[in-house]
Amino acid sequence: MSARPTVLHLATGNAHKVAEMAALAARSAQARGIPPVQIIRPARLPDVVEDTGTFAGNARKKARALQALLPPDAWVLADDSGVCVEALGGAPGVESAYFAGPQHDMAANLRLLTAVMREVPEGRRGAAFYCVLVLLGPGGEQVFEGRCPGTLRREPVGEHGFGYDPLFVPDGFAMTYAELPAEAKNRISHRALAWQALAAWLDDGVHPTG
Ligand code: IMP
Repeated sequence: MSARPTVLHLATGNAHKVAEMAALAARSAQARGIPPVQIIRPARLPDVVEDTGTFAGNARKKARALQALLPPDAWVLADDSGVCVEALGGAPGVESAYFAGPQHDMAANLRLLTAVMREVPEGRRGAAFYCVLVLLGPGGEQVFEGRCPGTLRREPVGEHGFGYDPLFVPDGFAMTYAELPAEAKNRISHRALAWQALAAWLDDGVHPTG
């Protein structure tokens, strides 16, 4: 009895996350010579207050809220992610989506992070993106994590991606996430690393399904 899902219901309303996840699924399936798991963005998403204070707690909350609306054998995947900035003591972190206020405005969040970091000198501009994926299936819950270290530019640059991508230069690269082609971000990003851990777990083969 294989536990490899054919469909994953993604507990997010963020179209960028859906697109990245679908690309990650396609990429890992191609490498394995298997059909990609289908990533589905549900027609109806439950309202979830992201108040647990941790990426894992928020991802679990989002996953469970969606699971409650679906048949018991459905597979659900939730992503909670954000950027932790050393000079800000780890902020915005789990509050990345709400840095500039509760309206969840990504452009305003990017402007605010750019402004608060403007006077921070080189050498103190370290940051890391985190992604926690919570997978709920008939056999229970699995948690996968990815971390991508880097530094913050002084001004946003680049057109790809979303959120804080135009400020973040991953270690080992001279370009921001937003300058890198999507294919490159999807090889190295926090979300890619978490997905790779998930894909490796699925590769493990047979998992309990009840
Ligand atoms: P969440 O939907 O509560 O997980 O919020 C994630 C927030 O973190 C987003 O609104 C973005 O601001 C930021 N974020 C997460 N992943 C990325 C990424 O890959 N690039 C840029 N920003 C991201």
